[in-house]
Amino acid sequence: MTDDTPLGGGSPLIDAHAHFYHAEAGRADWARVNQVRLRAGDRIGITYHVASVLGSYGHTSPTYFPSPADLTRGNDAMAALADAEAHRVRWYVTVNPNHTAHALTEIDRGVSRGAIGIKLLASRRAHDPLLDPICERAADGSLPVLHHIWQHRTREWPNQEVSDGRDLSRLAERHPQVSFILAHLGGGGDWAHTLPAVQAQSNIFPDLSGSGVDRGMIDAALDALGSERVLWACDVTMETGLAKLRALDVIGLGSDARANVRWRNASRLFGAHAFPRCQSAASAAAVGS
Ligand SMILES: [Zn+2]
Repeated sequence: MTDDTPLGGGSPLIDAHAHFYHAEAGRADWARVNQVRLRAGDRIGITYHVASVLGSYGHTSPTYFPSPADLTRGNDAMAALADAEAHRVRWYVTVNPNHTAHALTEIDRGVSRGAIGIKLLASRRAHDPLLDPICERAADGSLPVLHHIWQHRTREWPNQEVSDGRDLSRLAERHPQVSFILAHLGGGGDWAHTLPAVQAQSNIFPDLSGSGVDRGMIDAALDALGSERVLWACDVTMETGLAKLRALDVIGLGSDARANVRWRNASRLFGAHAFPRCQSAASAAAVGS
């Protein structure tokens, strides 16, 4: 391995669950944190970050129940960053399902500015009927929906309604045309509960993000769902994303299965046109082999 070989290997890699900050997110170091994410991404070998901005991250309205004004400003900041980093950043438009009209307008506005998916905040339980109009719009626009899940729902939390895999399965069953990305299999609780809860619902695709790096988690996910339903992602903790890449290299996967998890599943869900550099890198590798 030479010094400039990415730590996570040289083949295409899509982080399907990333976040960036902005000037109104209540932290003075927001620009530095964004730069660190991009720099770490280059070192790990991330070809594309698919990211969202969660309103003001709690600064002027709750993170999981943002005001329409905060959502609009956050999405504007996300769109500007995606424009500035067009070669490596794609984005989800973020909405609060409690504000239906605003959410639908915001989705259209986001798509017109290049958004390729919807980040649905956890301000309603995943099976709530208020999510239906948003999922219908997602179906119309072929937009994957990233839904925040806490697998281990033990109590109610202020300003959010914590959902588990069963709740998301009920929503996904009502919207079979929509691909649902179940956020952070490795974060927030019990993946051993989630896997059987979503196994039969083939339009649910868990991402591997979250700080949990339990031994056996990835093996169990691949056993339950197959390599075509699992997406690599980091969320906030990029070092645990790297740990999972190392795991993918040593648990006995074939090269097709590894490519599925690293980037091909994301490419299928969002559309190959969204990730031109993955296509060209893969074609170059095929020609060279
Ligand atoms: Zn997230």
